[in-house]
Amino acid sequence: MKKRYSELCTCKHCGKSYEGRKNTYTCDDCKDIDQMIFTQIRVYLKKFPNSNAVQIAEALGISANLVLKYIDEGRLCFGRGTFKKL
Ligand SMILES: [Zn+2]
Repeated sequence: MKKRYSELCTCKHCGKSYEGRKNTYTCDDCKDIDQMIFTQIRVYLKKFPNSNAVQIAEALGISANLVLKYIDEGRLCFGRGTFKKL
């Protein structure tokens, strides 16, 4: 059987180590939370495209660090606006 997951990752939500796909930062237990926060960030950025990570974090009640991790994952794409990390 071919192994699908090979990379040892650390979950950005609960800090647990798990085996997952490369460049992912969420374990299976936190997938739903991850998707929920990701959606919230995207919705927020649609409304306020020039926000930075701190503003997003404050608006959503999460840590700026977490927002930065989403950015590092490359899942948040900013085709327009002048999004800056900080
Ligand atoms: Zn987790």
